[in-house]
Amino acid sequence: MTMLWLFAMPDFLSHPEVLISLLILLLALCSVIAVFIALLRSAKREQEALKHSNSLLIIDETTDLLNERSFEIVVQNRLRHHSKRKWFLLDFDINHFESINTLYGFQRGDAILQAIAAHLRRERDQSGECFARVYADHFICLLTGDTLSGVKRRVLAMDEKLRNLTVHPGLQFSYGLYPIKDVNQPVTQLCDYALSAKRLVKGNCMNPLGIYDADFHQLQLERFELTAAMEPALNAGEFLVCYQPKYDIATETMIGAEALVRWQRKDGTVIVPDSFIALFEQNGLITKLDFYILETVCRFLRSVLDQKKEPVPVSVNFSRNHLYEADFTKRLLDMLQTYEIPPHLIEIELTESAFVNCKDHLLHVMDELHDNGLLISIDDFGSGYSSLNMLKEMPFDIVKLDRGFLHSSDRDYVVIETILNMTRRLQLKTVAEGVETKEQLAFLRKHGCDVAQGYLFSQPLSQPEFSQQLISARKPAECS
Ligand code: C2E
Ligand code: MG
Ligand code: MG
Repeated sequence: MTMLWLFAMPDFLSHPEVLISLLILLLALCSVIAVFIALLRSAKREQEALKHSNSLLIIDETTDLLNERSFEIVVQNRLRHHSKRKWFLLDFDINHFESINTLYGFQRGDAILQAIAAHLRRERDQSGECFARVYADHFICLLTGDTLSGVKRRVLAMDEKLRNLTVHPGLQFSYGLYPIKDVNQPVTQLCDYALSAKRLVKGNCMNPLGIYDADFHQLQLERFELTAAMEPALNAGEFLVCYQPKYDIATETMIGAEALVRWQRKDGTVIVPDSFIALFEQNGLITKLDFYILETVCRFLRSVLDQKKEPVPVSVNFSRNHLYEADFTKRLLDMLQTYEIPPHLIEIELTESAFVNCKDHLLHVMDELHDNGLLISIDDFGSGYSSLNMLKEMPFDIVKLDRGFLHSSDRDYVVIETILNMTRRLQLKTVAEGVETKEQLAFLRKHGCDVAQGYLFSQPLSQPEFSQQLISARKPAECS
């Protein structure tokens, strides 16, 4: 070989361009080999890094699933390396798990969590899915599937099995599912989306699975906006009070009114309470709002009294959140005193759900209100899980029948008749809400209902319109 080179040398010397080409070729070959070696080294380094991070993964001791931090690392990796696949983030927990721990002990609680984990491990397919327990009964899962509807079906089938765990059958779960759009988003954010979808359905047995889709995203944005806008809106006087008159069914004269809040935004749009009351109940702003409404009503009644006119009692809605405030009664009475409003002119409306828990505390609050001359009504009676026992156990003065009764089937009319029979015998005053037709009014009159409130008599009126009604003969404005 060397000989060959020696013989060829003179030939190269006579043709230097061949030598240069050969050198260039050699250099190129060396570069390719160098790049190849560098690539191999980097792949090895990455593999080692992954191995290292896997060895750092912390496994939850109770369930042998990943913990939250490890889940984040694994999910980030899976999403990055399989970005073409369709991924879904599922968040779920058990409804009232804390009661299970309290009632049956932590051992039972742990056994349930372990049975769930075992089920999740069986669920796992081979395409990179993973599961973690965040804390207590809170689980998160990375799932994959071709379509959202397919994954929904799979989650509901899983729910069916989890509800029938041998260790504790009859559990109920809430789920939130987020179809991942952008694999580069932080995993914590993806988990937040699934969590807020779950919150939407929390405790709803009829629909245990919430989906974070475009509509939901929009809804969330609006909720955030409303929440942020509430306090400035209160200061800017954007919350208005409407008054819906109540009529004595026997005489058809106005004997009272209900104060109903409206939120008039700066752009003139009016938002009805069903869109924000629940939101404000969640973030605690409701107590501020309710007292603002009470103050507006007191100011109005004071102006009527100052004009030597005779106002009718006005009922004000109070959220159940108030009942947990130590100084609720005092604040309320202070307000009446500030505006010198006789207590019989204010009636407190509490929704039926307020009466379900904390019975003793509620009885105490009701006694205080009664001792100070205020009347209490139970709003939307029949809409929730109220037991009829409440009718005899709680000393409220007025029952407001939920308006849903008048707009449903014949069977509902049988129920109204029975409730009216009962309230009459218990000597409670009954108000029917949502009265829209003469037929409904005739039915209520026939069965001894005392008071009617509804569009048949009047829509909720603005304060000036209601003032006008007070001056007139207190007969319905239009009842044809
Ligand atoms: P609610 O206290 O049961 O008030 C009665 C609701 O029925 C009002 O809805 C009223 O406009 C509506 N209504 C009256 N007559 C009829 C009728 O003939 N047909 C139909 N379909 N509906 C009728 P609105 O004003 O939208 O209030 C909804 C709920 O929001 C209220 O139900 C009450 O629970 C809550 N709310 C209103 N104002 C306040 C407030 O100041 N504080 C609190 N905490 N809740 C409030
Ligand atoms: Mg009401
Ligand atoms: Mg009502």
